[in-house]
Amino acid sequence: MSSSRCACCILSSSFPSITFDDQGVCSYCRDQTAGLSIDTAIERARAQVKELFEHRHQPYDAIVCNSGGKDSSYTLMLAVQKYGLRILSFTLDNGFLAPAAFDNIRKVTDALGVEQLTYRPSLPFFRRVIRATATKPIYREKTLMRISAGCNACISLVNTMAVRIALEKEIPIILAGFTLGQIPTNAIIFRNHFRFLAESREESLARLTEAVGHEVENYYDIPGRVLDRVASYPHSVNLLCLETLREEEIVAKVEAIGWRKPTGVDGCSSNCELNTFNNYVHERRLGFSPYEWELSLLVRKGLMSRAEALSKIEDNPVERLSRLADGLGLTGEERVGLGLGVASSRA
Ligand SMILES: [Zn+2]
Repeated sequence: MSSSRCACCILSSSFPSITFDDQGVCSYCRDQTAGLSIDTAIERARAQVKELFEHRHQPYDAIVCNSGGKDSSYTLMLAVQKYGLRILSFTLDNGFLAPAAFDNIRKVTDALGVEQLTYRPSLPFFRRVIRATATKPIYREKTLMRISAGCNACISLVNTMAVRIALEKEIPIILAGFTLGQIPTNAIIFRNHFRFLAESREESLARLTEAVGHEVENYYDIPGRVLDRVASYPHSVNLLCLETLREEEIVAKVEAIGWRKPTGVDGCSSNCELNTFNNYVHERRLGFSPYEWELSLLVRKGLMSRAEALSKIEDNPVERLSRLADGLGLTGEERVGLGLGVASSRA
């Protein structure tokens, strides 16, 4: 565990560019301007959302990226019940979702009367991607302030697939369940100029291709001939950023329509078993939890207690790592490199 943490939030001394004052309060907590700019960004996004949702579309107003977790389930609820949108729910089954996550997807989409589309990439391919993120530097330090490399690889795949489906089915809006701790303020609402944004993907895509092979392009890119035909790119909106709810309030709302918290996931996930492995790799490499930033923001806003935030990041059951390493097909050498000992019985 980290040697020392901020006295107000939970950021540790290993967090990038952090400094502490003589009261042990971190520079991110001391930065008073940050809160103001977040409020301004939320107000601006609210106005943009109102305008964007004014018109109805056929056959869908929006596609929702639905992981089966509490946040995407609640996003689905907001889209249908608060905004009255006609929704296509989209799930990427990465092979490591908790079995209960599928029950939750079924219950929530059924309760809301929403169509569900599940897509499962090649498991050997996905495992190679996660192994690459665990053993090689694929993403920039700035990206890794908010998210683990493994989760980022998975979410990038979800995003690319969502844009592809939106373009194919002419769906104008993509909704996702990210909160302000997980994304920068300029990503609450934005237009997916896929070609225009190519530069921001270029570096990590090249590294991932080098590690995994050219199959990466089939998953993380959209063919030029498809982009040539695009008249209008879809907007992405993260509706949860416009709400101020405590986690237990979100859980209570989704439980009312049948959602249940899965077992077998760590304190920071409500759907994916692989999160535990990605957290472990991140902490080992960088010295801090990939959830510190997000949870610290909630603590600063008074939406979560510091003790609760700490208990969440400390709930990362290392006894499951060996089984996850089996599931990912890690080699003996990769296991040793990650401090996971020698291969277990199945390898
Ligand atoms: Zn702090």
